[in-house]
Amino acid sequence: MQPSFPSSAESPLSDPQALFRLIDRHGRGFFSLEELQLALAAEGILPDDQRIGRLMQESGETRIDAAQWEELLQRHHIVQRALLKELVIPEFAAFRQSLEEIFEETKKNEKGKVADYIPQLARVDPDQFAVSVCTIDGQRFSLGDASTNFCLQSTCKPVNYCLAMDELGEEKVHSHVGREPSGRTFNELSLNNDGLPHNPLINAGAIMCLSLLKRELSPADRFDYVFDTWRRLCAGHAPAFNNAVYLSERQTADRNFALAYFMREKKAFPPDTDLIEALEFYFQCCSIESCTHHLALAAATLANAGINPLTDEEIFDDETVQHCMSLMLTCGMYDFSGEFAFRIGLPAKSGVSGALFLVVPNVMGISIWSPRLDKIGNSVRGVEFCERLIERYNFHLFDSLTRETAKINPRRRKYEGEFHRHIHLLYAASCGDLDEIKRLEAAGADLNLSDYDGRTALHLAVAENRPEVVAYLLSRQVDRTKQDRWGNTPLEEARRLEFAALVGLLARG
Ligand code: GLU
Repeated sequence: MQPSFPSSAESPLSDPQALFRLIDRHGRGFFSLEELQLALAAEGILPDDQRIGRLMQESGETRIDAAQWEELLQRHHIVQRALLKELVIPEFAAFRQSLEEIFEETKKNEKGKVADYIPQLARVDPDQFAVSVCTIDGQRFSLGDASTNFCLQSTCKPVNYCLAMDELGEEKVHSHVGREPSGRTFNELSLNNDGLPHNPLINAGAIMCLSLLKRELSPADRFDYVFDTWRRLCAGHAPAFNNAVYLSERQTADRNFALAYFMREKKAFPPDTDLIEALEFYFQCCSIESCTHHLALAAATLANAGINPLTDEEIFDDETVQHCMSLMLTCGMYDFSGEFAFRIGLPAKSGVSGALFLVVPNVMGISIWSPRLDKIGNSVRGVEFCERLIERYNFHLFDSLTRETAKINPRRRKYEGEFHRHIHLLYAASCGDLDEIKRLEAAGADLNLSDYDGRTALHLAVAENRPEVVAYLLSRQVDRTKQDRWGNTPLEEARRLEFAALVGLLARG
């Protein structure tokens, strides 16, 4: 177990000027906003981050001096936490670099075919590839064609479900749609034994969820409501609407019409449902467009239990998101869902445009896009990227977080394990906590290590007059001749402090 230290968001810094010096590398007594931006960008806090935008406007200056710095830190905890490397991925630059390698490797894969059931998808340049990451602390980076828009298609389905759940609650929503994987293709003409769609992430279930949403509003206002939710999920970046995709979807929708009529025959819809309106609504939502750079924010909102990391706005209830994650884990990747859960072990949702949402709960959201699809309908590169990610990082929901494995835990700070053991040991020695010293020794702590001032556990036990600890350390044959930076050995220190019993112990051979 790692000890948990209070984060700086809870406790004020004891020496904010040390962080000032971290950025003011040349000791000029000030630094520019650009220098601060660069330092933050290295931690994944990008210049277009609203939290930093506010900071820049408020300061109104282009230079920050030591007095302004303290005030700025107090107002913007994100700055303090980022510079202290207290965000969820502390070594963000290394993480980014590693994902760039995965991206380049994955890009070589040119297998698969773009969806061609409508001309708008068939015409998309198949070589495009984009990955964007956003952590629950709003640390971000994007790779490849991250600003190119593509349509959401089936990746709109989790959001439709969350909206229905937040508006109507679990009981009502699930009296109209099941929550079991279907084991069938996403648009197969089949319902469960109760005559309901198998789950909200296949076509029938998505049409059903949309039919439940905001029924009192006009079709235009219902669409605005969903569209605006996407804008909020993307931290204020409005998505686009691809009218050509919408028109094509509508024209080639025989199967979706058939599903809707089948559901109506089984009385699955609430009474008075306008079937055509529900279908239109579904085609419209599939035709919303955005890019991975913005959609990563939506994925991160899901990773962050419904709260957008950049705006701090609660967009969905935490329980709703939990239910949605369970469904994405079991049903999000078409007929590959079981295999994906087995191999990747993360909630995800794909769409025929080559879009893929991946959620690492409590860590980050990832938006991936590459149009070539495998036979099942998932983005070939999207799936490969996820596989490579899971090979390297312990993000699978069932990866061990308690055992050291071959995988990297990027939630950990560099040297964190050793560092904590070491600091703990020195602290335990000065407090006279012998049991704790034995525990740390058992866990691999080196009893001879010293701090920056050359002070060893033995020095500290002497300084605080802890005979029991001194005797134990000596019995473990620690090096009693080590000098601290002032040239003192533990024996000299005991003499100086006139701790006779300790002098006796240390002077004995
Ligand atoms: N518009 C598509 C359909 O309903 C969505 C397909 C998908 O992305 O799974 O057929």
